Amino acid sequence: MTTAGWTYRVERYVERFGAFLTDEVAPLEEDLARQDVGTAFNPRLDEAGRMHPAVWEARREVQRRSAAAGLYAPHVPSGGGFTRAEMQHVEEFVYHRSGLGLGLAALAWTEGPNTAIEQCSATARERWLEPLLAAGITAAFANTEISVGTDVLAMETHAERDGDDWILHGHKAWITNAHFCDVIQVTAVTEPGAGTRSLSMFLVDATAPGVTRGRDIPTMLDDGLTGELHFDGVRVAPEDVVGEPGDGFALAMTWINWRRMARGGMCAGWGSWLLERAVERARTRTSGGRPIAEQQVVAHMLADMDLDVYTARAASLQIQTELDALPGGASGLPLHPEAPRLMSLIKLVNDEAFQRVADRAMQVHGGAGLRKGSPEEKLFRVARNLRIPAGTVEIQRNAIARGLLR
Ligand SMILES: Cc1cc2nc3c(=O)[nH]c(=O)nc-3n(C[C@H](O)[C@H](O)[C@H](O)COP(=O)(O)OP(=O)(O)OC[C@H]3O[C@@H](n4cnc5c(N)ncnc54)[C@H](O)[C@@H]3O)c2cc1C
Repeated sequence: MTTAGWTYRVERYVERFGAFLTDEVAPLEEDLARQDVGTAFNPRLDEAGRMHPAVWEARREVQRRSAAAGLYAPHVPSGGGFTRAEMQHVEEFVYHRSGLGLGLAALAWTEGPNTAIEQCSATARERWLEPLLAAGITAAFANTEISVGTDVLAMETHAERDGDDWILHGHKAWITNAHFCDVIQVTAVTEPGAGTRSLSMFLVDATAPGVTRGRDIPTMLDDGLTGELHFDGVRVAPEDVVGEPGDGFALAMTWINWRRMARGGMCAGWGSWLLERAVERARTRTSGGRPIAEQQVVAHMLADMDLDVYTARAASLQIQTELDALPGGASGLPLHPEAPRLMSLIKLVNDEAFQRVADRAMQVHGGAGLRKGSPEEKLFRVARNLRIPAGTVEIQRNAIARGLLR
């Protein structure tokens, strides 16, 4: 893994993160292994299909310790305020070093704070954002519905004013962390017919009257984290509106764009980890008395993996730097008109390159790559998944074309 382009802040972060993995995460991982409940990324599921509570608790403990060590949320202004280029280096390091281990939980994923929540009121900051930054609580982003995914503005969840408060009704589906979240970042229609100003974003207490957690939606990720949420006349105070009423679509895009940009470091880190494992396998696995690496067809698979990892990484890093240089950066409200195309380029190049990398990694490993629970098998499923959430690859092409034709 190259350190070219690392700033002093990244160097310091990476050094401390490495020590954190050894000193704090490794003992917790050993503890988890003794409990026979699966691993952080291949957990056992409970009878309702949710992640085994012991695995969830191990992840939570890592998050709390990581927050206390100042490592949890460098991507948000209140957690470190790293640039996107710095975040790509951090994410690449974390995914490469952690692989599929418990250590991955130490860098906030969608259950942690995000740049959209940063737009909340002072009251909500104290109630929700500060505890999220400390990893004392976790969040879920609830945008998708059973009948509405891509077509966000057609959502049915809605909220009406009641005095200063809002009353929320609706049903969200495919929500990561639906089962465990403490606060839900919900998008809902507040002004029907107002186009991109028709939605607002609310911070909803997951234990508030009228909120129910629905069924688990089992996916090929097999992680027991995706589910449904119901809102039946939930009262929301005005200070729990994020930004202003009508900002919901832009804020939802801020959240979604964060996940798009995070593909750069994630796929570079996991991609180079898979490549190293494939090189090792090709060197040590023999056929006809010779390492399979001596078969040109296998060596070419390694070369093609390197090509995909390198080009997606380089393109993403260049784009993150361009995003950092835009007025308002990568999460300005309103977002700079050049930004959506650039963010979609990151997601598209990584989703498609990583799918090829994961496929070849499996092929080099032969049957061992297909073995359930192997890193190759799990990351093949992850790679296939990546092309759908946070906007499908088709939608990224739409956004890129829109940017070009603007
Ligand atoms: C594991 C997982 C976790 C998720 N986590 C969350 C979460 O935490 N929060 C949340 O809100 N959502 C979440 N989602 C939902 C996810 O964001 C949606 O699945 C995704 O946006 C696609 O929407 P859809 O499934 O309704 O597909 P559809 O919109 O039905 O799309 C189906 C197909 O039609 C194509 N298509 C649709 N519209 C167009 C168009 N206008 N132009 C071209 N092609 C089009 C799509 O590209 C796709 O190929 C998650 C999904 C999964 C699988």
